Amino acid sequence: MMKNKGRFGDYGGFYVPEVLIPVLEELEEAFYRLRDDDDFKAELDVLSRDYAGRPTPLYHSDALSKHVGCHVYLKREDLMHGGAHKLNNGLGQGLLAKHMGKHKLIAETGAGQHGLATATIGAMLGMDVKVFMGVTDIERQMPNVQKMRLMGAEVIPVTGASGTLKDAINDALRYWTAHVDDTFYLFGTAAGPHPYPVIVRHFQQIIGEEMRVQCLERTGRLPNVVAACVGGGSNAIGAFAAFIDDPEVRLVGVEAGGYGLDTDKHASTLQKGKVGVLHGARSYVLQDANGQVIESHSVSAGLDYPGVGPEHSYLKDIGRAEYVSAMDEEVLDTFLLMAREEGIFPAFESAHAVAWLLRQAGQFKAEDIVIINLSGRGDKDVDAFIRYRPESAQ
Ligand SMILES: *Cc1c(COP(=O)(O)O)cnc(C)c1O
Repeated sequence: MMKNKGRFGDYGGFYVPEVLIPVLEELEEAFYRLRDDDDFKAELDVLSRDYAGRPTPLYHSDALSKHVGCHVYLKREDLMHGGAHKLNNGLGQGLLAKHMGKHKLIAETGAGQHGLATATIGAMLGMDVKVFMGVTDIERQMPNVQKMRLMGAEVIPVTGASGTLKDAINDALRYWTAHVDDTFYLFGTAAGPHPYPVIVRHFQQIIGEEMRVQCLERTGRLPNVVAACVGGGSNAIGAFAAFIDDPEVRLVGVEAGGYGLDTDKHASTLQKGKVGVLHGARSYVLQDANGQVIESHSVSAGLDYPGVGPEHSYLKDIGRAEYVSAMDEEVLDTFLLMAREEGIFPAFESAHAVAWLLRQAGQFKAEDIVIINLSGRGDKDVDAFIRYRPESAQ
């Protein structure tokens, strides 16, 4: 593997145990070969369309447009099979595994959406699936755990420090190190060692490509703003990729502000982190003065991660994308507002991007176009919402 490959400025790379280097090289080689292979592309296109439901619609939200004072569109990744953008990457990497002759998949998961996507492709391709999931997340995302088990996946509880996504990735990497021969690690976000950030971006960039075509068809011009929530950064980079070379399109990544950025209970890695190495890549990381990774906090399991994909660190440093936060309380307000006024349950993760936008009310010109990537649906979060706001369902 070439030293500069998988670098975004100073970020990225592959800081992994020796035993993983040849496996990552094999994966990189297979990815670059198959990515441009006509049969592979045709197979992925058919599955994306007929199995997963692409293209997803671009929906003009009258209610949000009225609140914010401009044209607000939602890119409906929540309508994809499985209820989130995760299956774009699941299908792509699942097919990679198949073509590489691997029949055992492992994955980490936070909210359970990536575990679900992996269980889904595993069931469809007849592969054995193990999903590593923190015990805290198992508790708060039980419907997804049950679905994974129904599809035949084994859910492996991870205790670790906080029982969330960071610990699940640690255990999945450890397991992979001991089972490299027959196991494919289907990594869920645009982070981790090279080539994962490149692979995940590639399979998610369909989101922005569709957005771009749909917006041009509908309005005759590009959007003024594209905004997406950022956990590890896969739905955001997927939404941004097609617009990075259009400097007039503002790119906004919304992190989990948790209780607030002035507390230590948040997951705003790009705003509050420092450069370090986590899970095999150099990027912004939430850490204390001694460089110890600190626990993140968010109402949404999918954003509860103290790291972030290296390309976002780069886009931040060069000023191409801006990174902001939404707090737990406003996310809950937004979840209810969208249920009441749009009849849509947004995933808590996706509600962060909408919550940020609602806070910008009055800041845009009436003709401005804002596209929010609605990364997933919130059925998995209904129970949690009712625990936080029991009065809303009475
Ligand atoms: C997993 C997930 C996220 C966060 O992951 P990214 O890699 O940052 O996209 C966001 N939204 C939903 C619905 C998810 O399932």
